[in-house]
Amino acid sequence: MGVIDRYAELLPVTDKTPRITLGEGSTPLVHLDGISRMLEIELWAKLEGCNPSGSFKDRGMVMAVAKALEDGAKALVCASTGNTSASAAAYAAAAQVPCFVLLPAGKVALGKLAQALMYGAKVIAVRGNFDRALEMAREAAEREGFAIVNSVNPYRLWGQRSGAWEICEALGRAPDWHAIPVGNAGNISAYWAGYKQYKELGKIDKLPRMMGFQAVGAAPLVTGQPCPNPETIATAIRIGNPVSAHLAKEAVAQSSGEFNSVTDEEILAAQYILSSKGGVFAEPASCAPLAGLIKLKKEGRLPRGITAVMILTGNGLKDPDTAMSQVGRPVEIGDSFDELMEVMKG
Ligand SMILES: *Cc1c(COP(=O)(O)O)cnc(C)c1O
Repeated sequence: MGVIDRYAELLPVTDKTPRITLGEGSTPLVHLDGISRMLEIELWAKLEGCNPSGSFKDRGMVMAVAKALEDGAKALVCASTGNTSASAAAYAAAAQVPCFVLLPAGKVALGKLAQALMYGAKVIAVRGNFDRALEMAREAAEREGFAIVNSVNPYRLWGQRSGAWEICEALGRAPDWHAIPVGNAGNISAYWAGYKQYKELGKIDKLPRMMGFQAVGAAPLVTGQPCPNPETIATAIRIGNPVSAHLAKEAVAQSSGEFNSVTDEEILAAQYILSSKGGVFAEPASCAPLAGLIKLKKEGRLPRGITAVMILTGNGLKDPDTAMSQVGRPVEIGDSFDELMEVMKG
């Protein structure tokens, strides 16, 4: 069952909303035993890379596209650091509506680019950063009457609330800490809205602290200033002027949470720890929360024994180049058994 069917009563859907799905949502929530011991907390990972296009974007995209179809949109348009375009292109293909995606030229991970092209979207690389591409996409939507499916589209954030609902159902409560990477700041805002909605419905009695992690080179919510030239290896959060900044600030303030930033080196180290000690391969942006928890542990600011959930927003396979730049190459041998034994024992 997809997000719309599973949560129809909690979402703004009508009889006329098409019940489209590619099987998004209902992703695993996995307890990371080894890393929990290392950090002296109970650490859970929400594997959003298990969504149909490999990132959490599908939860909101299915709602945005369903509503666009309900409203008779002729085409979809979005700007993207990669995953929004992959997701939009997938749902557009399934619904057979045209889709235009604007990407910052040269700054999109290889897997994501391959996805948008394979799903048959019209892919346009803009020589500019994401923030500029988004301005252009908004203008195109306005002039041409296309549906914009960036997180400025309110249905995106509605669908993304479903992640919070699933976590509460799996744990039987909200976590103490909710740790999440922050780029355009839609997801942290959607999770907070989802938790609050569950509290109002009496399904949980305590709300989590919202802990938002950015990359040092793209940390407008940490510095309090827009960042004109965002730079980070975590391309999914390479955003200098987050559209949902106001909502994200509210989430952090209301939950006594915080924004914090981590370096690219800390992100890459966390990515390798998550893969090699947890068995979960997530893309660099998704590893900012683990990098942040490790940093807070070192600073003595991670309370012992808390239950924390990290949102692993995207699949590691999306960015093979960054991964390969961090790890060694395979040992190559000839086809002799002796050589094999030598390497295995070496
Ligand atoms: C989009 C994205 C983010 C950032 O989410 P926002 O809602 O823009 O804050 C983080 N990680 C991945 C993998 C993403 O695709």
